[in-house]
Amino acid sequence: MNTATSERKAAGAVPLGHAERKYGWLGRARYAKRVRLGTYTMASGVILMLAGGVAPWNGVLLWLAGFVATNVGLLLRSRIRCRVCGLDPWTCRKALQVTRSLRMLWLAALEVCPVCGDDGSATPDATARWLSSGGTPEQPYWTSRRVVVALLLGVGCVGGGLVVAEWRKRSWAERLRESRRGPTKG
Ligand SMILES: [Zn+2]
Repeated sequence: MNTATSERKAAGAVPLGHAERKYGWLGRARYAKRVRLGTYTMASGVILMLAGGVAPWNGVLLWLAGFVATNVGLLLRSRIRCRVCGLDPWTCRKALQVTRSLRMLWLAALEVCPVCGDDGSATPDATARWLSSGGTPEQPYWTSRRVVVALLLGVGCVGGGLVVAEWRKRSWAERLRESRRGPTKG
């Protein structure tokens, strides 16, 4: 019953249907496991970060652990390349046309590299064909400027989290002090 409803939901919301289970290009390029592991690591990281944020005690460590896990997951997921033309399928022009939330499904449904047409197995034949075709590889999305901006954003995120945690800790301590002061006055 449950699987039936979730399948109907997926079919209604996502035009790519059952793409998730196919992993065509990803599977042949042997990236499927890593991408799945990255997704789970990322999801647990986000949960840890949320838990750290709402924890009644000082949740900085929990939050930091979540932050690290989220980034490890992101790294695991992002380090995939076409072995023939070097394309990064997450950030290639075709992928950026897809809504961010659907990009994973798009990648899962990908059968051949959008630039060189390799099916993921990257045989010497495919490489030779690509080289002799004279096609030009796509410019990578992650230029050094974009990397610097992303790093600064990451540092800002950690700093902001620590400030919020410190503020929460203080307001807790204050409230505690107030509640102790209350009854002695009256
Ligand atoms: Zn390619």
